[in-house]
Amino acid sequence: MSRIKIFDTTLRDGEQSPGVNLNKLEKLEIAKQLERLGVDIMEAGFPASSKGDFQAVKLIADTIKDTSVTGLARTTKGDIDTAWEALKGAAEPRLHLFLATSPIHMTYKLKITPEQVIEQSVNMVSYAKQRFPQIEWSAEDATRSDWNFLAQIIEKVIDAGATVINLPDTVGYTTPAEYGKMFHFIRETVPNIDRVSLSCHCHDDLGMAVANSIAAVENGVTQVEGTINGIGERAGNAALEEVAVALKIRSDYYQYDTGLKLDEIKRSSDLISKLTGMYVQANKAIIGRNAFAHESGIHQDGVLKNTETYEIITPELVGVNSNTLFLGKHSGRHAFKDKVESFGIELTDDQLKEAFQRFKQLTDHKKEVTDDDIYTIVMEIKTEAQAVSKYELKSFQVQYGQATIPTATVSLVTPQGKTLQTACTGKGSVEALYNTLSTLIEEELKLLDYQLNSVGGGKDALAESHVQLSVNGEAMNGRGSAQDVLEASANAYLNAVNRYIITKQSVKPKEVVKQ
Ligand SMILES: [Zn+2]
Repeated sequence: MSRIKIFDTTLRDGEQSPGVNLNKLEKLEIAKQLERLGVDIMEAGFPASSKGDFQAVKLIADTIKDTSVTGLARTTKGDIDTAWEALKGAAEPRLHLFLATSPIHMTYKLKITPEQVIEQSVNMVSYAKQRFPQIEWSAEDATRSDWNFLAQIIEKVIDAGATVINLPDTVGYTTPAEYGKMFHFIRETVPNIDRVSLSCHCHDDLGMAVANSIAAVENGVTQVEGTINGIGERAGNAALEEVAVALKIRSDYYQYDTGLKLDEIKRSSDLISKLTGMYVQANKAIIGRNAFAHESGIHQDGVLKNTETYEIITPELVGVNSNTLFLGKHSGRHAFKDKVESFGIELTDDQLKEAFQRFKQLTDHKKEVTDDDIYTIVMEIKTEAQAVSKYELKSFQVQYGQATIPTATVSLVTPQGKTLQTACTGKGSVEALYNTLSTLIEEELKLLDYQLNSVGGGKDALAESHVQLSVNGEAMNGRGSAQDVLEASANAYLNAVNRYIITKQSVKPKEVVKQ
């Protein structure tokens, strides 16, 4: 078995998904989970893009020690210097430099000649090499580039000190056979190619990102880039859990192994869905809700007789645990603490106190509290940005009936500490509630998206809501959970507004690059 390295870019490419904006505490929790999952490299962000991204990359680089942390940079001294400041505390500082090599990008975006692209790449790899021991160089839009030009530039950046060469399918354009051939050509043509590792990076615009990645592996690539749940710009990136499980399940055919702890896949997928608000569809390969459900009578009969008749992946392999131990009303603080520790999450004494209190409140209404419920409560506490002043919901009441006009009365404490109260109507109960909140809140608000999900199953399940709001013209995500759907909806709405208040100190818009 030869070992394939997993390069996770959930926090960089994944975070560029439309509508996703994570605060640095959320990014840190995802980074810790990726470390538990066993990814080899994580791309924590693009430090030069914004103050917030810089701080998040620095926090992750300073905290994560078992995984190599990297950050993205353009081929400029400014970007490289900023990336170094963010990454220098990492166990193994690693830089990811990129420059486009396709005619369309060089002509229309960069407006520079192919010779200048070579010169700039070589100069900046040499410059970065003075500090970074590991440098990955990416030929942006490689799959629409001239292969001979790629071979030429790759040879030169290797001589300048690059340690990994990545050939991304930036626009999700290639096919498995073609992508494989490209890597084969590069390995045959570039004389010094044995001095570096080759990496693939695929987007899913044509639904081939995972297949393309595996074709690359079959052609000598030893590093696969992607995201958990396949999130990312447009149609997203290659789903790493699919790549890893495919190689595992078909180890009779592929002689490759990843270092991923496959039974951490479900937890990683759930956390990323929860924090990004991008839920996976029920039929998603590997971790969708239906991936292990066998509805048809014939299937069920077969599975009962021998699970392998229709089931090629067991739920346990990817960490889907059917026999969860429930906690309830009489569970003590000790059992609760053990449970939280079993997730690999550490809480301070204050956080534990608050989490236990919320757990107890939940047990008043819910007989059996599941792992998912506890995980939701704990993550909410871990990732709550500490604002000096923010809006707080004091109380609310909603009246709804088919024969009446839905009306909400809300009492709210403003960031200035003033308590305000009013009532508004709406066409439905959520709209009435949101109309009332927006009347009380000073910021200009517009609801862009609203989602409601249940955590786990059962009629007493915890409700989790995600909203996207335009707050003074800026898109902000918010999430909130509660036993009641209206309370969860109100919490998510206020969470989006409070995120805006917390981040408005650094309003410099984030620079977005595709890669
Ligand atoms: Zn990408």
